[in-house]
Amino acid sequence: MAVAKQRIEKYDPASIEAKWQEEWVRSGLHDTPDESDRPNFYFLTMFPYPSGDIHVGHWYAFAPPDAAARFQRMRGYNVLFPMGFDAFGINAENAAIDRKIHPAVWTEKNMAHMRDQFRRMGTAIDWRREVITCYPEYYRWNQWMFLKLYEKGLAYLGEAPVNWCPRDETVLANEQVIAGRCERCDTPVVKRQMTQWFYKITKYADELLEFEGLDWPERVRVLQTNWIGRSEGAEIAFPVEGHPGDEIRFFTTRPDTIYGATFMVLAPEHPLVAKITVPARRAEVEKYVERARQMAEIERTSAEREKTGVDTGAFARNVFTGERIPIFVADYVLSTYGTGAIMAVPGHDERDFEFAKKHQLEIREVISPDGEEHASLDEPYIGEGVMVRSGPFNGTRGEAGKHAVAEDAQKRGIGKASVIYRLRDWLVSRQRYWGTPIPIVHCDTDGAVPVPYDQLPVELPRDVEFTGRGGSPLARVASFVNTTCPKCGKPARRDTDTLDTFVDSSWYMYRYVDPKIDTAFMNKAVGRKWLPVKQYTGGVEHAILHLLYMRFMTKALRDLGELWFDEPVVRFRYQGTIVFKGRKMSKSRGNVQTPDEYVKKYGADTLRLFMMFMGPWVDGADWNASGIEGTYRFLWRVWELALTDPAPAGPRDAAVDGAVHRTIKKVTEDLGDYHFNTAVAAMMELTNTLQHATGPSRNDGIATLILLLAPSAPHMTEELWHRRGGAGSVHQQRWPTYDDTIAAPREVTIVVQVDGKVRDRIPMAAGRPDAEVQRAALASPKVQAALDGAKPAKVIVVPDRIVSIVTR
Ligand SMILES: [Zn+2]
Ligand SMILES: [Zn+2]
Repeated sequence: MAVAKQRIEKYDPASIEAKWQEEWVRSGLHDTPDESDRPNFYFLTMFPYPSGDIHVGHWYAFAPPDAAARFQRMRGYNVLFPMGFDAFGINAENAAIDRKIHPAVWTEKNMAHMRDQFRRMGTAIDWRREVITCYPEYYRWNQWMFLKLYEKGLAYLGEAPVNWCPRDETVLANEQVIAGRCERCDTPVVKRQMTQWFYKITKYADELLEFEGLDWPERVRVLQTNWIGRSEGAEIAFPVEGHPGDEIRFFTTRPDTIYGATFMVLAPEHPLVAKITVPARRAEVEKYVERARQMAEIERTSAEREKTGVDTGAFARNVFTGERIPIFVADYVLSTYGTGAIMAVPGHDERDFEFAKKHQLEIREVISPDGEEHASLDEPYIGEGVMVRSGPFNGTRGEAGKHAVAEDAQKRGIGKASVIYRLRDWLVSRQRYWGTPIPIVHCDTDGAVPVPYDQLPVELPRDVEFTGRGGSPLARVASFVNTTCPKCGKPARRDTDTLDTFVDSSWYMYRYVDPKIDTAFMNKAVGRKWLPVKQYTGGVEHAILHLLYMRFMTKALRDLGELWFDEPVVRFRYQGTIVFKGRKMSKSRGNVQTPDEYVKKYGADTLRLFMMFMGPWVDGADWNASGIEGTYRFLWRVWELALTDPAPAGPRDAAVDGAVHRTIKKVTEDLGDYHFNTAVAAMMELTNTLQHATGPSRNDGIATLILLLAPSAPHMTEELWHRRGGAGSVHQQRWPTYDDTIAAPREVTIVVQVDGKVRDRIPMAAGRPDAEVQRAALASPKVQAALDGAKPAKVIVVPDRIVSIVTR
């Protein structure tokens, strides 16, 4: 087009971005009122650990959701988009041990740095609502909830195995155990039984399987469902020979296979092992049990590992067949699942089959796919079928067989139908310093006594020595430990464990609505305006623990009369992981890519857009910054386009108007659905179209493009908005709307030629990809007839006009 060459100021992101970041703070643009003339929309993104730096993985987690939240603001919602820090945890404590910095000092320093990085990212966060979990005004409510759950029987003391480093003489978090060894000193980690605090999440197992009314990704629902692992079956007990009164209780999902139970297996930790093992076998069994204790669960249950085990020399009686069956100890049976014992049915279970082969135990077919009895089995048959070799149950099929056996067991008084779960109660105590102190006092007379509510918070003492050895640092602070019993007044000791940091993050979304309230964990009056959370985003790695704990805590608080809804989050979307050269970025691996250098060179807007454009957000990506230059040039093109003098008046161009409306439609749908990459692609395409357009369609198109781009590139669009004479902030403008009739693609007629002769005319929407046009042409019956079986040698597509097929 004929526009005189015009001098346009250089696009300089550094000066533009700093200016607007300051201005937005000054004008309070991101401060969200609790009430306005717009509907409220609570948009939550998982808060980070204050690990020290916002790396590109963080950017990926925060920048695209920031664009999505800004988009909802322009769409007319009053969007609450808060941020805070999940500030307790092992990292701060490790820093204290390694670098002699107090965890509190380390955490403050990191939070200050990260807040600044968030600002430079151009996020639309309402910082007035910041929540920091390591402050007493926050964690006192962890303690309050602990006591409420304790009163309701939802928090309790129990025995559980913990990871123990014998060299450092300390308990390790699961994350500190790398391939069965201590992360700090490389000593093999062992399991130790310790008294621990639990939250009774299993009480909600069935309710947690319900996702009715929730818009959550299928993948997350499946992960949670499997984690909870509900199985129906029967719990039955077989007596132990020579030990009257002792029986082995086991759970089975296949009671219909009970006539095929030719041996039993106990977990190494099963309490009967020591009692029933015959003297001749004792030494070997004890050695085996000791070895199993050193092994990680994941290793024990690995499918690849050979199924080891030892004979106890003892026998049980299969009450159904009347046979004596040997009892083994094997580490593939876990004490923590079911009862820690199984009836082994080698004919119909893969692990049992493998084990039976190795130990030359009888493999018996009792379920037949075709109802016939077969002489032997080459491999276990694990499907459903007809019961055979099963006495009175012969001929019974599938579910009916399971029920019949369970009922019979009940009649005999040795069992009943039952349901078990893989889910275990949530172990919340940690032998760590940097966490919420557990508000319990241990008294010799009264046992575990709750700290009275009016004495909360139990503050974490500041003056602590960090050695990384010898158990919880809190246990060595006499002024903390020694207290008096709230019940009898005699000397007593404080609990020296702290709460798992997942407790902190299980309810933080309720604190954002009013982080300063000091009479309750949540300001209910304000909460009613915002809750439940409408949209939540975060990493898929939190699909199980965090998201499940959050759901549990919401249900528990509801049952305490504190919440009026069942689920914390209506809609959840996750982002994939950013890896670098195929590995997840982490500080300990030393492969963290810092975004700061890119921000410096290209600006935050370019980096935001680049991360959105890398590929589908749910898939994550392998970090490769080579394309960032192209994103930068795109913004530059928009900059020049927007600052060029308006095109002179003239007729409207229907093709350009159509492209603009189609782009509005596409970007609106994509930003709402988290398809960021295709939204960016659509805006790039529109930019190309507008560069070649003229007249009012061009001028209006550019104005629209700036609005569409505003959530993704907030600084540059703000600058352009002002330079083009806009009032207020671009971010306070209404999102553009589209007209379906204008957006509808133009109809074109594709002329199809075969060897130069016109054979068909096909009406099609304009702008379809070549491959699609070619497919349609080749599928035409007239073209097929003209080809008469000949193979096209060449197909040429002239977009929106001609398909030319050449056969020779
Ligand atoms: Zn160690
Ligand atoms: Zn007492």
